[in-house]
Amino acid sequence: MADVVAAPPRGLELFAPLHRRAPLTAAGKKAEALRKLKIDSVQDLLQHYPRYHVDRTQLHTIRQLAQGAATGEVQVHAKVLHMDRPIRTRTGKRLIKGRIGDATGSIAVTWFNLDWVARALKPGTEAFFFGRLEVFRGKLQMTMPRFELVRTGREPFNVGRIIPIYPATADLSSDELRKLIWETLGRVGEILDPLPVELRNRLRLMSRSEALRTYHFPNDMDDVERAQRRLVFDELFTLQLGLVYRKRKLERTVQGISHDAPAQDSRAEIFVSQLPFELTDGQRRACDEVAVDMTRPYPMHRLIEGEVGSGKTVVALYACLVAIGGGHQAAFMAPTEVLAEQHQLTVRDLLDRAFGADEARNLFATVSKRPVVRLLTGSTPAAERAPIVAGVASGEVDLLIGTHALIEESVDFARLGVAVVDEQHRFGVHQRKRLREKGAVGEPDVLVMTATPIPRTLAVSIYGDLDVSVLDELPKGRRPITTLLARGDGERTKAYDLIRREVASGRQAFVVYALRDESDKLELKSAKSEATRLASEVFPELCVGLVHGDMKSAEKESAMTAFRDGAVDVLVATTVVEVGVDVPNATVMLIEDAERFGLAQLHQLRGRIGRGAHDSYCVLATDLDLDRADEDPGIALAAERLRAVQSTTDGFELAVVDLRQRGEGQLFGARQSGMPQLRLARVLRHKEVVIESRKLALEVIDQDPELRAYEHLALEREMRDRFPERALDVVQSG
Ligand code: ADP
Ligand code: MG
Repeated sequence: MADVVAAPPRGLELFAPLHRRAPLTAAGKKAEALRKLKIDSVQDLLQHYPRYHVDRTQLHTIRQLAQGAATGEVQVHAKVLHMDRPIRTRTGKRLIKGRIGDATGSIAVTWFNLDWVARALKPGTEAFFFGRLEVFRGKLQMTMPRFELVRTGREPFNVGRIIPIYPATADLSSDELRKLIWETLGRVGEILDPLPVELRNRLRLMSRSEALRTYHFPNDMDDVERAQRRLVFDELFTLQLGLVYRKRKLERTVQGISHDAPAQDSRAEIFVSQLPFELTDGQRRACDEVAVDMTRPYPMHRLIEGEVGSGKTVVALYACLVAIGGGHQAAFMAPTEVLAEQHQLTVRDLLDRAFGADEARNLFATVSKRPVVRLLTGSTPAAERAPIVAGVASGEVDLLIGTHALIEESVDFARLGVAVVDEQHRFGVHQRKRLREKGAVGEPDVLVMTATPIPRTLAVSIYGDLDVSVLDELPKGRRPITTLLARGDGERTKAYDLIRREVASGRQAFVVYALRDESDKLELKSAKSEATRLASEVFPELCVGLVHGDMKSAEKESAMTAFRDGAVDVLVATTVVEVGVDVPNATVMLIEDAERFGLAQLHQLRGRIGRGAHDSYCVLATDLDLDRADEDPGIALAAERLRAVQSTTDGFELAVVDLRQRGEGQLFGARQSGMPQLRLARVLRHKEVVIESRKLALEVIDQDPELRAYEHLALEREMRDRFPERALDVVQSG
């Protein structure tokens, strides 16, 4: 802690809530233009960060460039000498050719598919051009250079410095924004820095005020770096502070259940020792982490991240058995009924193996260690439902498997000790509160499992109030999956041949469609009509089954069972098979209209195969013309997705591509609305800062849990400003 008590920090609060923001003085048209950019206050303006900075200290004449003064990305200040109209090339691209020059020489320039460039760059126009310089047959040329028009009278402001380029509109140029930010910075006075001086020095960070000024008006590129580091740190640090604060507060204030540590002869460990396989190192580690969490007096809140097929179910069951071993009950929740059913089969199977099939209790109840397992879903018939619900309420049922409806509905547990939630997406704050109400003796432990791997830095940023275990290896002996791209009908026919060959050697196949019903707008093949076509025309000799989302639960179940039992060779499905279905004999996954699926979804689907001892094949079929990728950004994204899935089976790698495509913001939004906005920080790009700020947040909160210390007052205020009230109030929101 600081030895010297400084005056409380004062000045403009960068993250102040709306009602405490400093108004901008701009009026009329300008105010309107600012509003379009969502800039309503001084704070908004100062956080209107440049998209990139252009280093205009390094300006060259064309002669210098011709003499090799600079290579790679270069910039020139030049005039448009002439500009052709766009022409169509043989490959269907729109080509624009032109020439730019200064007093010392000229450069050929070309653009593709950007017709507006020809309109913007009329002969005589002056601009800064920046891009990669190429020498072709001894002549200088630039392909697709970026450029910024120079308007007379403005040059001195923009030459010989680092120029930030701002997101701008037609009514408000980057230049004008730059002027406005300059004026505003001159007027705001003091800018509050909530970071204690001691921390700031230790981390070698600029003050916030200096960072803002420098980022908008740097002297060199090093300045940009250093300023950005501080601004990014600020966004991530208060984010982590809030998440850690909430986590620690939960641990302090919410009464959990201290389960008995699983000894060698406990149900959980007997279960492990009787498995038909060895746990992977990752599974063992995760089980140990779960056991430690569960013996603590506060509720476990852990996320198990694992590749598809990495064996999360075993870890889940381990957690259930830790609770059951001490006389508590467990709930195992799946996102769909099909999956709940699937889990129940798996669980029964594994428990039978470890404890025998006899779950009947007798007078000497301890003789049978076989937990009593029941399945309860929306389609459980009323007659069966009543005894199950009664058994759960009396405590006779040890493990209840079902959909999330388990905790939504009026199911009363006698002693709920742990809840396992498969796939976190739909498990939010609200459900957690429900769960708290179900725990008669204390808040049950929660284990959330996700098969959508996200990089750890992202996990601690989004799920910062959760602990994370990662299953990063697949069980030994898995055969690799070959992923193929099938373009058009010709290659689709080959995929059908592949299916025929695999079935002939005793294997099975999935064929997956994006939508069930015919839709005129999207010419997608519908699962239903395709099932008919495949059965009668393509595979008349095979048995073709169908499962889709609109089928009644019992129908779905029987379709899945027939496939699992090998009675069906080819299962046509919509994405209901996406998560969790486990049929090790299936070796082909043909995904139709693969470009329609998201990356994570494709990865999930592929995870349905390669679970047995045989080589497996995933075929991504598409009718999209991938060669048109450089003309159509939509096609380019789809092509990138398909190629990514084809090139790696590493879910974490794919997650990074996915994040890049969709933007990190999406993930934050999906998690919960209470997440503070990140403007400059990107948790992937700024990995080190995420980790550093996480560590620091833990240090600060563990030393001063409520941030009551004098030097933490401003930090506490900023943290509260950035999170909505209820997001930090653990008792209300949980
Ligand atoms: P997921 O993580 O995708 O939910 P599952 O739990 O469904 O994966 O496991 C996939 C398959 O791997 C199952 O058939 C399961 O029995 C098997 N399995 C799990 N752990 C191991 C292991 N350590 N060694 C071999 N097979 C395993
Ligand atoms: Mg699973």
